[in-house]
Amino acid sequence: MKIMSINTGSSSLKFSLFNMDDESVIASGLFERIGLPDSNTIIKYNGMKLEEKIPMKDHADAVNILLDKLVNLKIVNNLNEIDGIGHRVVHGKDKYNKSVVITDEVVKDLDEFKAFAPLHNGPNIVGIKAFREILPNKLMVGTFDTAFHQTMEPVSYLYSVPLSWYEDYGIRKYGFHGTSHRYINETLSKMLNRNDLKIISCHLGNGGSICAIDSGKSIDTTMGFTPLTGIMMGTRSGDVDPSIIPYVMEKEGKNASEVVDDLNKKSGLLGMSEKSSDMRDIIDGMNNGDEKCTLAFQKYCRCVTNYIAQYYVLLGGADAIVFTAGLGENSMPTRRQICENLSVLGVKLDLEKNKVMGETAKISAKGSKIDVYVIPTNEELMIARDVKKALESGI
Ligand code: ADP
Repeated sequence: MKIMSINTGSSSLKFSLFNMDDESVIASGLFERIGLPDSNTIIKYNGMKLEEKIPMKDHADAVNILLDKLVNLKIVNNLNEIDGIGHRVVHGKDKYNKSVVITDEVVKDLDEFKAFAPLHNGPNIVGIKAFREILPNKLMVGTFDTAFHQTMEPVSYLYSVPLSWYEDYGIRKYGFHGTSHRYINETLSKMLNRNDLKIISCHLGNGGSICAIDSGKSIDTTMGFTPLTGIMMGTRSGDVDPSIIPYVMEKEGKNASEVVDDLNKKSGLLGMSEKSSDMRDIIDGMNNGDEKCTLAFQKYCRCVTNYIAQYYVLLGGADAIVFTAGLGENSMPTRRQICENLSVLGVKLDLEKNKVMGETAKISAKGSKIDVYVIPTNEELMIARDVKKALESGI
């Protein structure tokens, strides 16, 4: 069975084509700068990497080119070989608590939910529409970043604001990165052959969120109504006092969206270090005595530690802390600092075992009260698994 996972961004389209018999990747790639000068395509298959500059005026162009390439490069003999396609969708509001087969009604809902995640849902829908137009009879599934968190109770998802804001406008915590947290839960539960694990899943990438999982259910998570809140991130502030917004508006003569844009794009590691949003640069800076980088690093680790501690209490203990995504999978100093901060909970890291990058490993020392793992996330595979489930049994 061959299944393709698609992740469309405003000017990009990422794909992975899986052989679901053994979950191996047949081909993957990135189409970038769609609709811009110098649009570029990268396709990896058979151990090769093919990079070509091909003009793509819109996402429909990109989809057509991708499908032609799959056939012309003999990655598939014909498009009928692809059994189904899964699309990442960022926001499913509280209507979608699991992946669904995409129908006209789903597309209509997504159009409606656009206002909740304009940067993400808009491009996701453009991608879905382009594929539906070109392959109208192919089974397609939407996998929502928000769906996994639909198990949260009101005490987790409601903000302490006028209740009518929730009732009238849907203002609540939705949470994101759900597909990644779900993958971490599934993978660790399978590894340990248990389905009652209490896991604190730390997805630390350029964006980042932490999720408290009990027996496969998201109990709470750090991102909220939008992906701006929770822990500090590459360029996002994470939690801040909202009164800052009107104050900065007045000081800098900006409107609210401009200040929120600063919180999204000019804050976090970038804002504090005034150097970079990338943890590698921050750690280099710190090692060279840059005080702003040192402070940004400490603040980042502090934010993550605080939420792990909070979720440890919420879950009534934890079987595992898992680090995943770009930074979680690769940054040894960050994992080390966070675990040191958690020593009061009996967390002990094995410094030798911590020397892993992008590989699954248990990195806690013998005698650690909570096991600590690195598990590379795989949202694309999770999406493909959902399509497989839909094909086999209907979801
Ligand atoms: P996104 O949220 O964009 O999907 P990723 O999960 O790919 O992000 O994570 C990207 C981030 O991971 C980079 O910005 C960088 O901060 C961090 N990162 C990747 N590799 C390393 C590394 N070796 N050391 C420290 N940080 C790393």
